[in-house]
Amino acid sequence: MDTLQQKLQKLTQNLWWTWRPEVRAIFRDIDHKVYHEAHRNPVRVLRQVTPAFLDQRASEVDITTRSDRALRQLEEYLNPLTTWGLVHAGTLLSRPVAYFCAEFGIHECLPIYSGGLGILAGDHLKGASNLGVPLVGVGLLYHQGYTTQQLDASFWQHDITEPFEIQDLPLVAALDTTGQPARVHVELPGRIVWAKVWEAKVGRIRLILLDTRDDANSEEDQGLAARLYGGDQRMRIQQELLLGVGGSRALRALGITASVYHLNEGHSAFAILERARHRVQHDGLDPWLAMKESAQATVFTTHTPVDAGHDRFPADLAAEHLRSLADGLRLPLEDVMAFGRVNPNDHGAPFMPTVLALKQSRTANAVSALHGNVSRAMWNCLWPDLKEENVPIGHITNGVHTHTWLSSELNQLFQTHLGTNWLDGIVRPDMWTKIESMDSAELWEIKQVLKARLIRLARDRSNRLHERNGLPIVMPPPLDPDALTIGFARRFVPYKRPDLLFRNLDRIAALINNPQRPVNLLFAGRAHPADGPGKALIQRVGQFTEDPRFRNRVAFVENYNIHVGRNLYQGVDAWLNNPQRPLEACGTSGMKVVANGGLHISVLDGWWAEAYDGENGFAIGNGEIHSNQDIQDERDFEDLLSLLENVIVPMYYERDAQGVPRQWMHRVKRSIRTLAWRFNADRMVMDYVRNCYLPAATASSCQMP
Ligand SMILES: *Cc1c(COP(=O)(O)O)cnc(C)c1O
Repeated sequence: MDTLQQKLQKLTQNLWWTWRPEVRAIFRDIDHKVYHEAHRNPVRVLRQVTPAFLDQRASEVDITTRSDRALRQLEEYLNPLTTWGLVHAGTLLSRPVAYFCAEFGIHECLPIYSGGLGILAGDHLKGASNLGVPLVGVGLLYHQGYTTQQLDASFWQHDITEPFEIQDLPLVAALDTTGQPARVHVELPGRIVWAKVWEAKVGRIRLILLDTRDDANSEEDQGLAARLYGGDQRMRIQQELLLGVGGSRALRALGITASVYHLNEGHSAFAILERARHRVQHDGLDPWLAMKESAQATVFTTHTPVDAGHDRFPADLAAEHLRSLADGLRLPLEDVMAFGRVNPNDHGAPFMPTVLALKQSRTANAVSALHGNVSRAMWNCLWPDLKEENVPIGHITNGVHTHTWLSSELNQLFQTHLGTNWLDGIVRPDMWTKIESMDSAELWEIKQVLKARLIRLARDRSNRLHERNGLPIVMPPPLDPDALTIGFARRFVPYKRPDLLFRNLDRIAALINNPQRPVNLLFAGRAHPADGPGKALIQRVGQFTEDPRFRNRVAFVENYNIHVGRNLYQGVDAWLNNPQRPLEACGTSGMKVVANGGLHISVLDGWWAEAYDGENGFAIGNGEIHSNQDIQDERDFEDLLSLLENVIVPMYYERDAQGVPRQWMHRVKRSIRTLAWRFNADRMVMDYVRNCYLPAATASSCQMP
């Protein structure tokens, strides 16, 4: 018989709890203070309480039966009778998909993600887990994590690193085929770098993570994977070699024979070369045949139309780093360099991993329909003989793991109206039509509870920021819990235009301070630690929160991460997205708001261009683009403000006898009904299985490692 401590430990060891609020609540109820101080990390909570204290709490808050029940549900989840994957992706069972990504965002306690890309990767693993699709995640363990954002008195962002301890995380050493902790090595200029291999369980999915803190490495090399997107170009190419080459070798060391490599963004593109190298050196295959074979089994997803988002390694730096792979491949170095060049004959041109991945993959896809168009135009240069529409880049629109982002209150409401197993039918539009029979007043009431929770969090954070910086605490407390609350949270970069609303200060002040129809604006977001212009944007928006005209209605919530995000998505009435079209490849934060009963207010960019139907949210502008950016900004500002003034705010404040905004709730229901079944991770993973994984697995040779 396991002790209570052992049972709880078992629960912590599978990240399944990250999308089970009732399991997280067990750890929270052990001790609220410890839970929050441990960043809601169950492993740390358990390490910080004594067995005696646990026993005492067990009798007070019923931890024993709750954890027994959770363990039984976890067992059932891990040993299903059947899954969608068994029925539809059975050919991947013996040879799974290897999903490579430079970042994975699964929970805030595992800070190896910076933003959208990583969270999408985390949601992909969770979707694959739910569907039972055989897939293994491959990434790096950044032991200093990503940075924490702290703003100073002038609202300038400071980037705090908080190194974490392995024993505080649900990670175990991955074992190689001989039962020993696995290690892999990668040849870098003048030396060999070793990496330990850790494993996390994400439901039914294994995530393997490489860690350069190995005694065989120099001190400098131990720090090679310390930070996500840290360092200069040299560090970046070395991290990418570690991910692509080391990641492939880690799969082999663990005895995992992947049928398909899914490269999520170009950072892992060197995996293509490593896979072919192995076939040449190990099986004596012809190098060109090996490259072809490797490409046939590779699926590539590109994530941004922003040029600076694609690495460009100077030719000499790339040559220095690719020599060893070229030798192994038995190909001239220049031929290997050519895979990463737009024009293979341009010997001075930089090496682009994105280009390698586009040329040497079986299928390449963008992440929304509009981004597909943009990507075909952007990469037409690689296929100069093809017309733009024939450039071989398709699209699979992103989706979010609904259960991770949905409030437990709404989950319960859905269980009542859609059925207890509603998640199993999440991709079925007919199931979602039942939303229409839901009582609007009930949904509205739940929304008020969630909003109050969010406003409490925003006020706490605001006070903390003021206290830390010796600023006067805002009085009366900012944000009215009854006001229409609009959220805006994302990475702060110029193209996302976080300050668009503030183009005309008097006009926005008049709008949000109307005593009959007040509006709260909640901002959050980080800039890359090296991005000065991004930090300046944060400062600009942050300083508005101190301006007497905005102080009580506008707040900035520090340190946008999964925790802050979850609270925002669940609590806001509406979500604002005003990027410069067409630079937002997809955008996923708005999808997380939909199931939580919030409305999306957005430029017709990314996913919104294919999702908006005229009544399931709001569109800023009509999708037309002006070549002069300043004119475009002014137009979008005008459109946004008149939409707020004439449509959104009046609709929100038009109430029936019960105080319910009928028309608004009508739109909310329509938004859930028309969007929730499409823009979720299950649908996304199903699309990848059908359109990319199965064809690649069938085509890939049986010998492919
Ligand atoms: C969803 C999410 C993102 C990505 O959202 P975008 O709309 O693509 O900007 C970034 N950060 C966090 C914490 C998220 O939850």
